[in-house]
Amino acid sequence: MDLSVIVPCYNEYESLDNFYNEVTKVLKEEKLKYELIFVDDGSLDDTLLKLKEINEKDKNVKIIGFSRNFGKEAAMLAGLENASGKYVSIIDADMQQQPSFLLDMYKKLLDNNDYDVVCAYREKRNNESGLKTFLTPIFYRIINKISEVQLLPGASDFRVFKSSVKDAIISLKENNRFLKGMFSWVGFNTIYVPYEPDNRLYGESKWSIIKLIKYAVGGIVSFSTFPLTMAFIISLCMFLIALLNVVFGNLSIRTIIFFISLIGLMVGIISLYISRIYKNSLRRPNYIVKEKIGFKASK
Ligand code: UDP
Ligand code: MG
Repeated sequence: MDLSVIVPCYNEYESLDNFYNEVTKVLKEEKLKYELIFVDDGSLDDTLLKLKEINEKDKNVKIIGFSRNFGKEAAMLAGLENASGKYVSIIDADMQQQPSFLLDMYKKLLDNNDYDVVCAYREKRNNESGLKTFLTPIFYRIINKISEVQLLPGASDFRVFKSSVKDAIISLKENNRFLKGMFSWVGFNTIYVPYEPDNRLYGESKWSIIKLIKYAVGGIVSFSTFPLTMAFIISLCMFLIALLNVVFGNLSIRTIIFFISLIGLMVGIISLYISRIYKNSLRRPNYIVKEKIGFKASK
């Protein structure tokens, strides 16, 4: 098997025919031995039905159906855990990421054995709400400053990589997965190529601002304990000021209120980490598979 193509799908019924035809055309032209692993992430529309239809006529198509919606991170993980190609790739089902570009990335890897990962990133951010455009660079600046991973702004999950990289990613057992950070954390040689995502033809993006903020905060909590260190430093400063106050006089009520709100903030930060510890301690799987179609019995 040359290439595994992982496709997370949530309510993508309308896009699938288009996507499948396009990706198949591109891969067949290259005469590649490939598998298309569609992960139906508990879609509410007829995505799974459509996938079964496609699988009936094309045995390169494999399906993993989740019991409910677990999120794109879980869908990508399921794809990785079931991929058997020498090279592995991830692409969205909505045609915003072009299958021909996936092939270009794959060829880049083949051409140069020093590369382990080729990652598509978007240089410009068009068609996005003002708030998203405003918050995104702030997120990248913060996470790159305070965490143990470096993320290129605009880097996507649209990637092709060697199976050794896949194995490394799977070996990270945490819940609350943040794949972009994991790719950075496991290392390997990565090359970034700019691309411009197309507009969505059907349906709509599953991202809301709230979801994005949760994703961003989750990413920071996953890869940095700096906020906790910060909380410690702030409490130390507050202690020193309180000590000086004992010697030199009174703190104003405003300062005291300010201190109390800082304490509130620190409790908030700590609770983010505690909830992460709690969730991981439950040891729940990242997803539940309802059915698997097209895989060999051993898989
Ligand atoms: N997706 C998924 N589970 C989800 C949300 C999204 O598998 O809970 C899939 C979706 O079907 C698509 C990809 O992840 O193939 C990217 O989603 P979307 O297009 O909403 O994100 P955007 O392109 O806006 O970043
Ligand atoms: Mg999309």
